[in-house]
Amino acid sequence: MSSVLERFLRYVQIDTQSDPNSATFPSTARQKDLSLLLVQELREIGIADAHLDEHGYVYATIPSNTDQHVPVVCFCSHVDTSPDVTGAGVKPIVHYNWDGTDIVLPDDPSQVLRIIELHDLDQQIGNDIVTASGTTLLGADNKAGVAEIMAAAEYLQAHPEIVHGAVKILFTPDEEVGRGTEHVDLQKLGADFGYTVDGEAVGTLEDETFSADGVRITIHGVSTHPGYALGKLENALKIAGEILAGLPKELSPEATTGKEGFIHPVQVEGIQEKAVIQFIIRDFTTAGLHEKENLLQNIMQEVLARYPHSTAEFTVQEQYRNMKEILDQHPKVVEYALKGMKRAGLDPIQRSIRGGTDGSRLSFMGLPCPNIFAGEHAFHSRLEWVSVQDMEKAVEVIVGICEEVANLVLND
Ligand SMILES: [Zn+2]
Repeated sequence: MSSVLERFLRYVQIDTQSDPNSATFPSTARQKDLSLLLVQELREIGIADAHLDEHGYVYATIPSNTDQHVPVVCFCSHVDTSPDVTGAGVKPIVHYNWDGTDIVLPDDPSQVLRIIELHDLDQQIGNDIVTASGTTLLGADNKAGVAEIMAAAEYLQAHPEIVHGAVKILFTPDEEVGRGTEHVDLQKLGADFGYTVDGEAVGTLEDETFSADGVRITIHGVSTHPGYALGKLENALKIAGEILAGLPKELSPEATTGKEGFIHPVQVEGIQEKAVIQFIIRDFTTAGLHEKENLLQNIMQEVLARYPHSTAEFTVQEQYRNMKEILDQHPKVVEYALKGMKRAGLDPIQRSIRGGTDGSRLSFMGLPCPNIFAGEHAFHSRLEWVSVQDMEKAVEVIVGICEEVANLVLND
């Protein structure tokens, strides 16, 4: 048994909720309460360079214990929790040797974990499940990952017979508000590649994410007094409505799954003279994004053709790209992870995420970075849970990846 459970229980009781409406960085000062504790605990296990930088990132190095050249691997998790559900006053409960019956959370008995409603829960009978008490989230997203990386670091420090290269640890703030990589210093980190430890089911590895753009359509109609509008008024609100009505239903989030992309309006605002529609465009390829953008632009032109005195601007903003574009150039990064999982006795499941991760951004910033499981489930909700056994497996996988990186290089 590692220290992962004890660490996890300690970390989730520290409120680290981030705030999307804050202009500061990190968005909330309380995130540093956990980060400072992590620095102190890293130093206690002998990791001398552990420190918190001025932006709230924790950097640390487990030094190499071989004089051979082994690539530098980084493990990364985020310390903040979702703004969607409160993270203040979390009271974690361990349900030891769970027998599969409903878990009623004591502080709000309307919150019940049922095996038929929560996916993957049916795999956990006989395991020890950790939940919150009913009024808060648990924070397994991503403190499970934080605790696993910490426990793996402690294990490596206590087992010098395990040969490994330098291992970098990175704990980031503000992932949940989309700013987790904003002030990361990859030069200082000095890793060749990395893994975010922020995935769901045990054994999963995610090496594909959406590619994402934002589109903004700004419509300039022709405004008049409505009483004297005959033959003159071209109402921007109605033009916006016609564009929305023209969207293909089969390319919506509610009609797509797997590797299918979509066109999704997220905001409309306006008056009769001017209206703005914001969209998010998602696909797994850049070409697929461009196809959807062209389609949307054609819909806009068709509607505008019916309003000869109105104009519109169509602007595209790049958001992030599928990390697979980068990972395909570094196939060993995924290979190490799959081998590390097999070494821990798991049957790895490689899959894609219909969303983005900090790893997508890190990959394009120069640190190829797939996502491996942390065991967190039902995150951003009061039913959030994680099992102790899955966390222990994640610790084994982190140690196993370090061993595989050294092995594959030293035996090459
Ligand atoms: Zn997360």
